Amino acid sequence: MADDTWEHIRYEQPSERVARIVLARAQTANAQDYQMLSELNQAFDRAARDESVRVIILAADGNHFSSGHDLRAGTDMSDIDPIGTWCCFDSEGAEGYMATEAEMYVGLCWRWRNIPKPTIAQVQGKVIAGGLMLVWPMDLVVCSEDATFSDPVVAFGVNGHEYFTHPYEAGARLAKEMLFTGRAITSHEALQHGMVNQVVPRDELESAALAMAEHIARRPMIGLTLAKQSVNNSLDAMGMYTAIQSAFGLHHVGHNHNLRLFDSLVDPAGLQVIRDEA
Ligand code: ZN
Repeated sequence: MADDTWEHIRYEQPSERVARIVLARAQTANAQDYQMLSELNQAFDRAARDESVRVIILAADGNHFSSGHDLRAGTDMSDIDPIGTWCCFDSEGAEGYMATEAEMYVGLCWRWRNIPKPTIAQVQGKVIAGGLMLVWPMDLVVCSEDATFSDPVVAFGVNGHEYFTHPYEAGARLAKEMLFTGRAITSHEALQHGMVNQVVPRDELESAALAMAEHIARRPMIGLTLAKQSVNNSLDAMGMYTAIQSAFGLHHVGHNHNLRLFDSLVDPAGLQVIRDEA
């Protein structure tokens, strides 16, 4: 798909060595359907392959970075070109849906996490559940003071969202609190716990993210790539990839438990629990 047909994202080059990819579904608080994730992957590929680009910013239109999965969009894969080797997305039982989530969530997020160029999430407003799956794979996070981070889906009878790196992002103690209580972590708490790099006023967010990107982009690509790979390798030595895969298996225990009890991938009572506490 050519980038002039992208509907849910925009691609910009705000300065010589910086690409900016923008989530452009403000009317749904940037809820993610598969088309958006697919377009996002294509845009990351374009930035990764463009030799003039050294740093990639992921930003979002509107008041909120992302409200997570678009629950109204469905899970049909027929219009999606998979980038991994998963297949049989329509298979019955646990098989088809596990393949779908492995492709669209864990597969894409892990791919973006390993782009050999620095990536910066530029975050405002709410980041809920699947929204975090676009923030955590980025290398750095610049957020505005109004940003909040939550993964309340334990109320749906699963362990958390699919790309499960919370203990690496927030530390084990805060990760458990986030998951057990579903509460939103504020920007200043996030800074205190090393979940983000910088908190700025809302009207300075875009310029702060761009300034950080331009500062980084003065360094040679090879140094940045090697530094990124070295930190990522350290996380991998701490078991990050294996931990993600293990949590993903447990996530599907949750989905299949809910299917048996409620004929739904998630516990339908969860929505009210989350709404009551919002
Ligand atoms: Zn799931």
